[in-house]
Amino acid sequence: MFGKILIANRGEIAVRVIRACRDMGIVSVAVFSETDRDALHTQLADESVCIGPAPSKDSYLNTDRIISAALASRADAIHPGYGYLSENAAFAEQCAKYGLTFIGPSPEALLLLGDKARAVETARNAGVPVVPGSNGTLNNADEARKLAKEIGFPLMLKAAAGGGGRGIRLLNGMSELSSAFSAASAEAQSFFGDGRLYLEKYIQRPRHIEFQILGDRHGTVVHLFERECSLQRRHQKLLEESPSPFLTPKKRAEMGDAAVRLAKAAGYYGVGTVEFLAAADGQYYFMEMNPRIQVEHPVTELVTGIDLVSEQIRVALGAPLGYSQEDIVLRGHAMECRVNAEDPDHGFAPRPGTIQGLHVPGGPGVRVDSAIYQGYTVPPYYDSLLAKLIVHAHDRTGALTRMKRAMAEFLVDGIVTNCDFHLRLLGLDAFRDGDYSVDTVEEMF
Ligand code: ADP
Ligand code: ADP
Ligand code: MG
Repeated sequence: MFGKILIANRGEIAVRVIRACRDMGIVSVAVFSETDRDALHTQLADESVCIGPAPSKDSYLNTDRIISAALASRADAIHPGYGYLSENAAFAEQCAKYGLTFIGPSPEALLLLGDKARAVETARNAGVPVVPGSNGTLNNADEARKLAKEIGFPLMLKAAAGGGGRGIRLLNGMSELSSAFSAASAEAQSFFGDGRLYLEKYIQRPRHIEFQILGDRHGTVVHLFERECSLQRRHQKLLEESPSPFLTPKKRAEMGDAAVRLAKAAGYYGVGTVEFLAAADGQYYFMEMNPRIQVEHPVTELVTGIDLVSEQIRVALGAPLGYSQEDIVLRGHAMECRVNAEDPDHGFAPRPGTIQGLHVPGGPGVRVDSAIYQGYTVPPYYDSLLAKLIVHAHDRTGALTRMKRAMAEFLVDGIVTNCDFHLRLLGLDAFRDGDYSVDTVEEMF
């Protein structure tokens, strides 16, 4: 067993990992930026180390400071959370060099999956359906033009190193190609330090359905069913649920098998998520694999009863999974709403500030994973995610009713949040009927 884990992250996910550590009898070490001195993760951890000024590049992305903090506090392992260093193969290697266990997959798997164009190739070779598109990355706009003529519009230009919805451009016709190519490439270069792009056919009104993967270091890989994440703004998720109202048991089994096949082909261990797009006709396509714990993991925890973060820590230690696919059962229905400090009426612009009053919902079937408290000041430097409201019930109707009840109770005074927007989403007939796509939120405006 690890004696001590350093958490190289902040916000609700750092708090989530600290709680898992405490459940497992592991000592937790938080790292914090100068502006996060009073943050919940800093206060809840057993120990905490300041690693630099507010900007992420000087603190939560400062690998030397983080490794030093781990060594000085005599931690055995580093949990990277999501975002930040979680998908950074060089950081995973640096951890190994200093005798620290990186709680995630191997650096090789990170390299492979971090290049989304290579991941698509791996999927194709493993017999997993992929979206028609470029085989690998494009060298220039001319190559894109040639391919566009063959495949036909509309198309999606996507960053090979992309994540968080960045570096993605929809192309409706040839006239848009040149400027979209340079814009997407520049955006990818500035966000990811890698401007390479690839091309995919645009799937009309698709659904985003992803499978949770869990594997140990001895070759066992299982899936923990799917999450439907189609409700998105700017290609970023807002509300997730499991099971997907769209999948039949047969399709679920087929996609789950495909996800496990891909994970095995990538030599994957740990927790990970295989994302698919599903078209209205039921055809599904591999999109990417996220090699880390996911924001919406609690949805899966509620329908399977499996604690994903402690499983992730256990398998990182080399422990065998100890169960197989048949042992994993889907029970009831779960939903998650991401509560963000943002203004839906002004393009979802971030709205930091001080929380004057707070009431957090509770009662049967309600879970809140958050990093906020009354009097806390949400800083302007980081992600706008404040809290996740997750509910569980026997069926989808029960979960929806429960989510409406809990969301209506959630009060965050003093700052603008998207809580009212969530209530509007939950009240849509299309959502009630499970008849929605990745375009539904945009169509609301
Ligand atoms: P999830 O995929 O877990 O549902 P998101 O896609 O919203 O969640 O990403 C989770 C967090 O990680 C967000 O803060 C997002 O901005 C960040 N993120 C995702 N991918 C990357 C990446 N490749 N590089 C940097 N940050 C990323
Ligand atoms: P990221 O790495 O930023 O998470 P993804 O490849 O997962 O990027 O795509 C993010 C979102 O963009 C998807 O959930 C979907 O809404 C949309 N999208 C991506 N590829 C396509 C496509 N080929 N056709 C239609 N929509 C797409
Ligand atoms: Mg994605």
